[in-house]
Amino acid sequence: HLEVNQLHKQFNTRRGSLTALKNINLHIEEGEFVCAVGASGSGKSTLLRLIAGLDTPTAGEILVDGMQVTGPGPDRGMVFQSYTLYPWMSVAENVEFGLKLQGVPKQRRRQQTAYYLEVVGLSGFAKALPKELSGGMKQRVAIARALASQPKILLMDEPFGALDVQTKEAMQQFLLEIWRSTNTTVFMITHDVEEAIFLSQRIYVLSSRPGTVKQELQIQLPSESHPQIKRHPVFQQYK
Ligand code: ATP
Ligand code: MG
Repeated sequence: HLEVNQLHKQFNTRRGSLTALKNINLHIEEGEFVCAVGASGSGKSTLLRLIAGLDTPTAGEILVDGMQVTGPGPDRGMVFQSYTLYPWMSVAENVEFGLKLQGVPKQRRRQQTAYYLEVVGLSGFAKALPKELSGGMKQRVAIARALASQPKILLMDEPFGALDVQTKEAMQQFLLEIWRSTNTTVFMITHDVEEAIFLSQRIYVLSSRPGTVKQELQIQLPSESHPQIKRHPVFQQYK
């Protein structure tokens, strides 16, 4: 599980110091699907980067299964809005790269990569370059890469923000299937409230209205509101 206690993040900029996060507390249980929503500039990406260990908090603590986060680690898989695939590497190499850094032996690396490419329905594109893929496909590669290290928690920063409505809906269905079948904990950032309601069991709201303290507010969705998983035709090739 993920625990964030009294998290603060301050940036020192040329115009002085800026408080991006103040008094943030989160609690995400194993297997939960939780979203955080908030306006642009409310600190969503900052929060996710801190949890991913890509930046350090000014104060407060982040715990994954009781262990303090001090940097990036295979227990957390990250998916960015802008895909961040290496353009010179093939699809398979992109997925495999993190496993290589972790020192996973070659044969196992190949197996894991092939497996997760199959999970995201891209087995036929292992040798393709990212530029040969559509946005939705690139995002599926990024998801495969994040899942390949079998993280305890999948962190996603507006993963479908750049996709058209149809692809976005297909990706949402797909993500629910992955979540159900892998039992991964998912913490997803979005500014799309409808998306958050559709996907998650619980929603945190990051508020940054002028004159108010930045804080999180929790909404518990009734369990019936969690959607039935319908297989989307686009992803029939998976399984
Ligand atoms: P968006 O919805 O537009 O992605 P966000 O909620 O993700 O917004 P953040 O990117 O977390 O917002 O930024 C929160 C605040 O922190 C903003 O005021 C931003 O200018 C500031 N900020 C973020 N990163 C840095 C940085 N590296 N240096 C200085 N200020 C930063
Ligand atoms: Mg952001």
